[in-house]
Amino acid sequence: MANKKLDVVIIGAGAAGLAAARELHDKGLDVVVLEARDRIGGRVWTHHDPEAPVPIEMGAEFIHGSAEETGKVIEEAELKSFDVGGRRCLVGARRDQPLDDFWEQLYRAMHLMDPPSRVAARLGLRRGSDFSVQDFLDTKPGGKGLVRERKLAKQFVEGFHAADTRLISAKALVDSGTPGEDMDETRLGRVVGGYTGVIEAIAAPIAMRIRPGSVVTRVQWSPKRVLVEGVRGRSRFTVNARAAIVAVPLGVLQAPAFSVGAIEFDPLLGPAKQEALGCLTSGTVVRVVLQLREALWADDVSFMHSSDPDFDVWWTSYPMRAPVIVGWRGGPGATRLLQMPLEEIAARSIASLARHLHTTTKRVQGLVQGVWMHDWQNDPFARGAYSYQLVGGGEATDALARPLKGTLFFAGEATGSGGSTGTVDGAIGTGRRAAKQVLAGW
Ligand SMILES: Cc1cc2nc3c(=O)[nH]c(=O)nc-3n(C[C@H](O)[C@H](O)[C@H](O)COP(=O)(O)OP(=O)(O)OC[C@H]3O[C@@H](n4cnc5c(N)ncnc54)[C@H](O)[C@@H]3O)c2cc1C
Repeated sequence: MANKKLDVVIIGAGAAGLAAARELHDKGLDVVVLEARDRIGGRVWTHHDPEAPVPIEMGAEFIHGSAEETGKVIEEAELKSFDVGGRRCLVGARRDQPLDDFWEQLYRAMHLMDPPSRVAARLGLRRGSDFSVQDFLDTKPGGKGLVRERKLAKQFVEGFHAADTRLISAKALVDSGTPGEDMDETRLGRVVGGYTGVIEAIAAPIAMRIRPGSVVTRVQWSPKRVLVEGVRGRSRFTVNARAAIVAVPLGVLQAPAFSVGAIEFDPLLGPAKQEALGCLTSGTVVRVVLQLREALWADDVSFMHSSDPDFDVWWTSYPMRAPVIVGWRGGPGATRLLQMPLEEIAARSIASLARHLHTTTKRVQGLVQGVWMHDWQNDPFARGAYSYQLVGGGEATDALARPLKGTLFFAGEATGSGGSTGTVDGAIGTGRRAAKQVLAGW
């Protein structure tokens, strides 16, 4: 790699890094994006299998809520997206019940966490203290009348936020908005052709500026000067630039020194960043996609919720009529599953789907044509699914996002503000924000 001094080097070609690079490139800056994997997109990864009737998402699948940043990309690139809709049901031991009021039920329990000061007082904590979602649930908010809603709330925090309810900050969750409060934000959409279409649209004009297979190992920096070192195949490379945007996942920033993917900063990032890193964690998710020979569920069902010990949510390809279905587990249940070999997880997903469909494992097993999953937890360039704030960590995402000496800038879902962490839309937003910060001081 040539050693001329670039304007900005971007580390990580996920949604955040690419959005940052694109913004700077469009403003005429000389950029290079260094990406460890041999593909772009990071935790957005659509697999196109000629045998599968729909794109297979290994990571992100849904456009959540208004998603303005993603919307801009979709519009500019003339991509197409569609709303998911469909019917939700609650799967019981023998019979299923409609769960059309999913968001209303969730709201009934979760809004009792707001304002957090009231809950803190009930918990006997000092004014302004933070507490975990589990602490809140243990106060049995809503009493006997909301037993069902509290159970749903716990499942939602574990599933949607991939979090352990004993660890996640209640205050941070309240700040990000109560689920079900704004029905526009409950919208779920998909990108026609798969989420990677969004990544490719952002990356297309900067394709020549992306260096896949480039694992960054060290960043030496001083004001207006950055020297990035890394490994590409068997060779070492260096890149000189005036500034760097670090857009790697939280887990990579927290990785033990010298482990695969870990980046050494010289000088160190400093106590404020260390403190922020200590207040955030990466959630755990297991996501299995099964393709069957025929769909064994009703045409109009989109989501099946349950208390299944392994996969407590399944969603179909609705509104597409395809025999492809996704099993999901987040939080501690996912951590438990990940102790098992991948074949065991796959077998458990088949048994779980059979329980949801009130049929035998043997019948489902006999119809399985394809199984896909990716272990994001043990993937050295992801080290988890997506981030959440620990108790007391309300300011951590902003602290992680803060630039250092007008030279090191930070992007990536974990640096999102206002509850935008953990999404593709949030990641794109952080990339654009980091680019603006660079330009402001140029
Ligand atoms: C299973 C799963 C399901 C999800 N579902 C949804 C969903 O439905 N909707 C939604 O909005 N979001 C979803 N998300 C979250 C979403 O995928 C992420 O928030 C988003 O893609 C993160 O983008 P990013 O750019 O911050 O990080 P990443 O996409 O992880 O990009 C970071 C990049 O840095 C690279 N990198 C790491 N270390 C190095 C190194 N040392 N040198 C060079 N490069 C390095 C990585 O390879 C990666 O490409 C899901 C995530 C997972 C895992």
